[in-house]
Amino acid sequence: MMTFRLLIDGQLVAGDASSPVLNPATEEVLAECPRASEAQLNRAVAAAKAAFLSWAATPIDHRRDILRAIADRVDAHADELARLLTQEQGKPIDSAKGELWFLAHAFRSHAAYEIAGEVMSNGAGNHVELHRKPLGVVGLILPWNFPMALLAFKLPFALLAGNTVIAKPAPTTPLTMLLLGELLADLLPAGVLNVIADDNDLGDALMQHPDIRKVSFTGSVATGRKVMANASATLKRLSLELGGNDAAIVLDDADPKEVAPKLFASAFGNSGQVCIAIKRLYVHDAIYDAMCTELATLADAAVVGDGFEQGTTHGPLQNKAQFERVLDILDDARKSGTVIAGGTRPDRPGYFLRPTIVRDIAEGTRLVDEEQFGPVLPVIRFTDDEDVLARANNSPYGLGGSIWSPDLARASALAERLDAGTVGINQHVGIDADVPFGGSKQSGIGTELGKEGLLEFTQLKVISSPRLAT
Ligand code: NAD
Repeated sequence: MMTFRLLIDGQLVAGDASSPVLNPATEEVLAECPRASEAQLNRAVAAAKAAFLSWAATPIDHRRDILRAIADRVDAHADELARLLTQEQGKPIDSAKGELWFLAHAFRSHAAYEIAGEVMSNGAGNHVELHRKPLGVVGLILPWNFPMALLAFKLPFALLAGNTVIAKPAPTTPLTMLLLGELLADLLPAGVLNVIADDNDLGDALMQHPDIRKVSFTGSVATGRKVMANASATLKRLSLELGGNDAAIVLDDADPKEVAPKLFASAFGNSGQVCIAIKRLYVHDAIYDAMCTELATLADAAVVGDGFEQGTTHGPLQNKAQFERVLDILDDARKSGTVIAGGTRPDRPGYFLRPTIVRDIAEGTRLVDEEQFGPVLPVIRFTDDEDVLARANNSPYGLGGSIWSPDLARASALAERLDAGTVGINQHVGIDADVPFGGSKQSGIGTELGKEGLLEFTQLKVISSPRLAT
């Protein structure tokens, strides 16, 4: 069995405690994971604080070189990292490789970003300089659905801007990040990057730590609320990337045969465990039956299995708690809707559930109103564009959304009024390292990726002086 270690102050160390990580495709123990104590967290923060001044003073071109070296190191170990990711997360191996590709790509492309200042003059004619400074020690808290790709949203910019980092993976998927920490240890000065795993018990201490200046958090709305409450004691900067309940609206002129495969992919990728998956599918009455038939055919064709098995298109749910939650939501949905595909578990160990389509269901059920975060899609009927827009917007979430129609003017007019951070037309939300991403309403605060994402890892500082007489 592989051994994993925490990265604290440039040293690879055992955790003060340990507990097992399971493979969700077998429910067997994959490895024993080191778990940091609060004392180890404090040591990591002290190391990051001590490393900050010289890292912030390092010429940015040198930091760029290190980011590119990290990208090369990730590429060189991509297969090893991807295999471990599939083992602990469950996703098909090609998807795991895609995450590692994205991580290396983000390090490489973000290395080239400028952190530009600005010179202006104020009303009194003063010379005013706007500088962008690093914040200090930043905490990065990650969920279990995309342990590597979501790190790519945070770590390259945090380091490029001159911050030092405490990275904390989710307790059920810590191993790939610990291995990454080990692989990167010699590329960065001691203390610049610290990787600690916990047992879901260090979040409060991390959030309340007086020497952490900012936390970039990705996870659920419920935990996001605790994060925000805990940040108040030290007035930490926060970026919150939280849950979603994305609506996709398919208008009456869309062709079910053509769009169904795209809708299916955007709802069931990563077995539905995607913050910006389609989670409520609204289909116009005129094409409702045809669309349900197409989606059921696609769901029936899915190959559910271990991510290493040839041909697997959909892996297991990542952990038992999430698996049981999705099964509960499905049980509730059966009371009012009709399951036309899936709804069954293959006869094998592992947290597997076949892609499931539920039709003739509407608001007022858990499946429609809550974030299911699993492979169960409600297909909801509508007849009027204005009515469906109001229903789609009637949600505390606002992460993504999409409108599907060959009539681009009609689709754009609706997209404009869909209340979400990212809206697609004839596609659901795609992620690109250079395009900013963030949610509206309770789906989050702040932005990641793109120029805006970089600025979130900086502090604006203004220096002004009277203009010298010439
Ligand atoms: P979660 O909120 O349970 O856990 C996320 C992280 O927070 C974990 O590392 C966990 O250990 C940590 N944590 C737990 N308690 C904490 C506390 N009190 N303070 C600080 N950190 C604490 O989320 P999850 O179940 O791992 O992930 C699924 C959720 O994440 C879904 O709601 C999904 O939509 C969301 N998500 C959002 C995005 C996005 O970009 N908006 C991306 C991926 C996932």
